[in-house]
Amino acid sequence: MANIPMLNLRREYEYMKQEIDNAINKCLEHQQWILGPEVKELEDKIARYFNVRHCIGVSSGTDALVLSLRALAIKTKNQEYFDKNDLIITPSFTFTATGDAILRSGATPLFVDIDPATFNIEPEQIKRCMKSMLKRKKSKIIGIIPVHLFGQSCLMDEILKIAKEFNLFIIEDVAQAFGGLWKNKKLGTYGITGCFSFFPSKNLGGFGDGGMVSTDDDELASLIRMLLKHGGKDKYNVDHIGYNARLDTLQSAILLAKLKYVDEFNEKRRRIAEIYNNEFKDIKMIKTPSVYPDAHHVYHQYTIRVKDGKRDKLMQFLKEKGISTMVYYPSPLHKMKVFDGRCVAFGELKETEKACAEVLSLPIEPLMKEVEIFTVTSAVNEFFRS
Ligand SMILES: *Cc1c(COP(=O)(O)O)cnc(C)c1O
Repeated sequence: MANIPMLNLRREYEYMKQEIDNAINKCLEHQQWILGPEVKELEDKIARYFNVRHCIGVSSGTDALVLSLRALAIKTKNQEYFDKNDLIITPSFTFTATGDAILRSGATPLFVDIDPATFNIEPEQIKRCMKSMLKRKKSKIIGIIPVHLFGQSCLMDEILKIAKEFNLFIIEDVAQAFGGLWKNKKLGTYGITGCFSFFPSKNLGGFGDGGMVSTDDDELASLIRMLLKHGGKDKYNVDHIGYNARLDTLQSAILLAKLKYVDEFNEKRRRIAEIYNNEFKDIKMIKTPSVYPDAHHVYHQYTIRVKDGKRDKLMQFLKEKGISTMVYYPSPLHKMKVFDGRCVAFGELKETEKACAEVLSLPIEPLMKEVEIFTVTSAVNEFFRS
């Protein structure tokens, strides 16, 4: 039996062991665990990589979103939190943290349906939503959080146009798309902030939780820097309701070592996706991922659709052959208890619910061996032949 996990972090560690061990050893020597030199070095390196004015290390991707939203409430409303009547457009087909961050900032998520071909939020739906919601007197749409799901950019031209027309902010959820591009410009540089996650399984992952905010806005950057250490310029001079949400020195050191490989690994992911696409092209029962012509997909996940209710059977078949798969996501946010009575859904979100029933993500480990890739593709082909 094969043994093919979704991701093989052990193999990735072996691939760059010396550099990671050296980075950790350096920290053991200097013992500056909180906001040590590696944090600033990582922030500066990634700011150069994205060509932005500020990158701010934070404790997770979720905190990157929460801090961005809180800083924006302080900057634009002179309030610690947004109000419940402040609506923020986002997809319901995403990880729970996207919606959760909106709730924690005091605002209300307004869920809009997705493009069935790419799983990303559908700009046509956002437009329709804007028109229909304009009639509401009590609530006001203030912003959009597009999620670049599975490593692929949203249709940013159209989203930017809508944001401009209706004076909405854009905060990008780039947790799954580090290094991804829209028209040759890095994701995370289109919004007022970009929010990244260094959760171990992400395209750039640490050995624990971590995250980062990218921004060109000096005021937001300084507010986020205050919020991540208790809300003050220093410990004894506190202005805002803050958090303890710093990025660890140790994580920064590990991420600095891994950053050198992120483009190479994204290319490897793209190569695996290409093989999968080619090997699955004759299977009528599955739909391989569609890519927008202007998007450079970095395949955080390789997610297919399986038709006619066969998804769970395929999953079980592959499991019996030792091939791991995952369903991202089995439940849309608007069906979760936490969002019950705390969100607004625009329309029925039919495509979102359909995607939850059909999606299946296959192993896409950058260091997958050719024989492993073809073990997956032959097993999938075998399932649909029988
Ligand atoms: C992982 C993820 C987050 C949250 O990141 P954490 O670092 O786990 O807090 C947010 N949004 C999306 C789309 C994610 O995939």
